Amino acid sequence: GTEDLVLSVNNIEVIYDHVILVLKGVSLNVERGGIVALLGANGAGKTTTLKAISNLLHAERGEVTKGSITFEGQRVDQLSPNELVRRGCIQVLEGRHCFGHLTIEENLLTGAFTRRDSNAAIWRDVEAIYEYFPRLKQRRNAMAGYTSGGEQQMCAIGRAMMSRPTMILLDEPSMGLAPQIVEEIFEIVRKLNESERVSFLLAEQNTNMALKYATYGYILETGRVVMDGPATMLRENEDVKEFYLGVS
Ligand code: ATP
Repeated sequence: GTEDLVLSVNNIEVIYDHVILVLKGVSLNVERGGIVALLGANGAGKTTTLKAISNLLHAERGEVTKGSITFEGQRVDQLSPNELVRRGCIQVLEGRHCFGHLTIEENLLTGAFTRRDSNAAIWRDVEAIYEYFPRLKQRRNAMAGYTSGGEQQMCAIGRAMMSRPTMILLDEPSMGLAPQIVEEIFEIVRKLNESERVSFLLAEQNTNMALKYATYGYILETGRVVMDGPATMLRENEDVKEFYLGVS
């Protein structure tokens, strides 16, 4: 039933600069506890979809001109990004976006900005995040700008976790990282999903890796969903193999 849907995107259209139609009616669902992959080539509209959900398009002169977005059963199209974070949905932007001049630990603490609970509770969560990300614990006092790409990606996810989300919109976590580090990050995503019950909508160009960890996938081509299905099914699909998995 619909009560099992955390997120529902219904037929959204996005236009940049009043004229450039980029999403041409995109619909997708994320079930509670799901890891849903949003796949497609560079420029297909993955980032635009995530930013439409978290209401981050205005800074890019983009707007949702049609359709609706529902999170936890309520329309969220008109909410500010901060309000959406308060309700439990947070985006980790492509390119990681840590505060380079702050330490890893200070970055994590900035993630608690919407919370009104005690410092003690916030510090307990910092320690809990170190359990998931031992590398962040080791590097807690390092300036984020001087840590590796993988550590910065972990920092960005850890910081998002500090808002106690029920859903994370994760944009291209594999970007520019070695396969072994990507695997390490996806393993942590899986643990956060299993143990903290965080649902994920994951935009990825690395189809192979994403479908290994996702429960369900959507494939975008020039602003439209052209295929969707359980990850196990997409992995076996001949078109997906040929066009997205580099196997013919
Ligand atoms: P990437 O892997 O590069 O992030 P993507 O699938 O996320 O690719 P988007 O970044 O959503 O794709 O871009 C979709 C389309 O929208 C592209 O054609 C892009 O050129 C265009 N686009 C993105 N941002 C803007 C903008 N601010 N103004 C105009 N067009 C834009």
